[in-house]
Amino acid sequence: DHLSNKIAAGEVVERPASVVKELVENSIDAGASWVTIELMEAGLQKIRITDNGAGMEEEDCERAFYRHATSKISSENDLFHVRTLGFRGEALASIAAVSRLRVQTSTGDQAGTKLDLEGGKLMNKSKSDARQGTDIIVEELFFNTPARLKYMKTIHTELGHITDVLNRMALAHPEIKFKCTHNEKEIFQTNGRGDLLQVIAKIYGVNVARKMIPIQAETLDFKVTGYIAKPEVYRASRSYMSTIINGRFIRSVPLNKAIMQGYHTLLPIGKSPIVVLNIEMDPILVDVNVHPAKLEVRFSKEKELFEALHGSITKAFREQRL
Ligand code: ADP
Ligand code: MG
Repeated sequence: DHLSNKIAAGEVVERPASVVKELVENSIDAGASWVTIELMEAGLQKIRITDNGAGMEEEDCERAFYRHATSKISSENDLFHVRTLGFRGEALASIAAVSRLRVQTSTGDQAGTKLDLEGGKLMNKSKSDARQGTDIIVEELFFNTPARLKYMKTIHTELGHITDVLNRMALAHPEIKFKCTHNEKEIFQTNGRGDLLQVIAKIYGVNVARKMIPIQAETLDFKVTGYIAKPEVYRASRSYMSTIINGRFIRSVPLNKAIMQGYHTLLPIGKSPIVVLNIEMDPILVDVNVHPAKLEVRFSKEKELFEALHGSITKAFREQRL
């Protein structure tokens, strides 16, 4: 019902950046090879996400706006094998509950579906064209939750949060072409050619990219790839340490610690490296079901994972004679 959707929205949709995160994750889960993000006023006025993913059939599209309507898992057991970014079936219902939303979607073989919702209520349904993919427009976010709206910071701050989200998505998915405009000006673009170093150059600059060392290591349970910066390139904050587990950007204090230990005494005290590490593992080894809007996960075999990371970093430095 509308009330529980609005309550759930409070958890999932904190600010425009949360909408962008959820919608782009859906595009990635739908197998899109490109995703465009159009923003007006840092998304407070308008967020439009278009993808060329699988699209939805009419019935699935309507169902997608009910709470707990996920097509991604169907049993409790699936919860331990999550390969998709979404699995709770809460995002679309939550976003629709606090905005005016239009979705146009098609699986490509016939006319698509267009729905208009206001505060989560279906206002209109019609046919759309048959372009394969999904196009979602979210306008007037929080129009019916004025208390939440009041908490929005400046355009500058909200846009900063969105940029963080997009940087993470691009680092986790160099194979997807992202393009983002703000007030009709392009602010971010990647080429989707799968070259992580190029994405790093885009986000951190070519001078940083030039100082990156490739990492490649494999143990029985983990495969680690990515780039770590030479110790001479450091930052004052840990937010330049990106760890991606099975395509999902995560945050883990102990994981960062293990990476820092790989640098042992090479970094000045209090400084952190720039790293982007992709870690592949059996989904059974990682619990992503900790909190809907947080980036925390839990690992079984934590010790082995940290050893694998530590080992892969020291090996890379040894090869570089550092
Ligand atoms: P979840 O991602 O947790 O399943 P969401 O509320 O984000 O839940 O989405 C609900 C469902 O709507 C998804 O399971 C998926 O089937 C469908 N869906 C949402 N966005 C897209 C998209 N861009 N392309 C195709 N299907 C989508
Ligand atoms: Mg989702």
